[in-house]
Amino acid sequence: MAKVLVTGATGFIAGHVIHQLLEAGHEVRGTARSASRETPLNTILSDYAGSPLHIDIVEADLNSDAGWAEAVEGMDYVQHLASPFLAVMPKDHDELIRPARDGALRVLKASKAAGVKRVVMTSSMAAIAYGWGDARPNPLTEEHWSNPDDMKDNTAYTRSKTIAEKAAWDYMAGEGAGMELSVINPSAVLGPAMSADVSTSLQIITQLMTGKAPASPRVGFCVVDVRDVADAHVKAMTVPEAAGERFLASGRFMWMSEVADVLREKFPDYQKKLPKGELPDWLLKVLTLVNPPLKAVVPELGRERHCSNEKARRVLGWTPRTEEEAIIESAQTLIDLNVV
Ligand code: NDP
Repeated sequence: MAKVLVTGATGFIAGHVIHQLLEAGHEVRGTARSASRETPLNTILSDYAGSPLHIDIVEADLNSDAGWAEAVEGMDYVQHLASPFLAVMPKDHDELIRPARDGALRVLKASKAAGVKRVVMTSSMAAIAYGWGDARPNPLTEEHWSNPDDMKDNTAYTRSKTIAEKAAWDYMAGEGAGMELSVINPSAVLGPAMSADVSTSLQIITQLMTGKAPASPRVGFCVVDVRDVADAHVKAMTVPEAAGERFLASGRFMWMSEVADVLREKFPDYQKKLPKGELPDWLLKVLTLVNPPLKAVVPELGRERHCSNEKARRVLGWTPRTEEEAIIESAQTLIDLNVV
């Protein structure tokens, strides 16, 4: 059994990675920006698992060198999930790019110095599917890279993920040689929340279930279950052929209205809250006048980004659940946790 460091241990996906690593018998250490998260995190993990679980937390921030050498000391593998993922984008893109890129390099450099065998890094479909204009491939695969310089089809977040992943591969091609890197590129991650402090991606379900939208904007995304994303991380850690490779961890593209339909059928008590039909694009644009954060949705209207998960299935032996299971489990846990 191996010793594994999970960065950003307090996160939505990280919780499931930690759970699966512990279930598989590995010894896990985590990082968080504040060590005071250790006790609440262990309570959350234990409640989810139904038996007592414990990991130690080392304090480390992506924006600072402090703590990383101590965090990676003695580790066989590192799962690097920490990265800022905000619902509202900052005006200054560097607020996200700097911690994502410089933080990834800090983790890789510390890992290399400590003799870590392989780092698994969480990138995103955001590093593959953006900035293509009319030339966007269908389906998108691991061969493709987003163009972070196309400001019409990028946010601070999508740019941060592309730039951070590129920097990581560049490091591996030079100074990092000798260590291994494997990258997971998930699409929109849904599925069971472990705590009420939910990730930005689960806010899609929260918004739908709390009646925030009278109708669904004509936007969509590829859906994947967090348990399958965690499984891809665990597999990528040890499958020999995963070294030096990136993997799309994604299911099929669904329109927001289709997601609402799945929820409506399974949770009839929420009929009144769930949006009915599609919101005309012109109306959404008018609504941005009174609700400026909606502006982020405008470039996405009518846009379809499809991707292939063939490589993850073939190389990692990855078999994801259905998109419907991911949607239903998100909603069920958000109900159980009194979030919606
Ligand atoms: P969460 O917001 O739940 O987790 C993000 C984690 O990053 C938190 O643990 C947070 O720690 C940590 N973090 C943020 N900023 C810093 C910083 N400056 N220093 C140290 N740690 C920091 O998001 P997810 O679990 O959803 O995301 C995890 C990873 O997966 C991210 O890399 C994200 O980009 C990627 N991803 C997520 C997708 C999704 O749909 N959810 C899709 C594709 C990729 P703290 O508790 O201190 O805030």
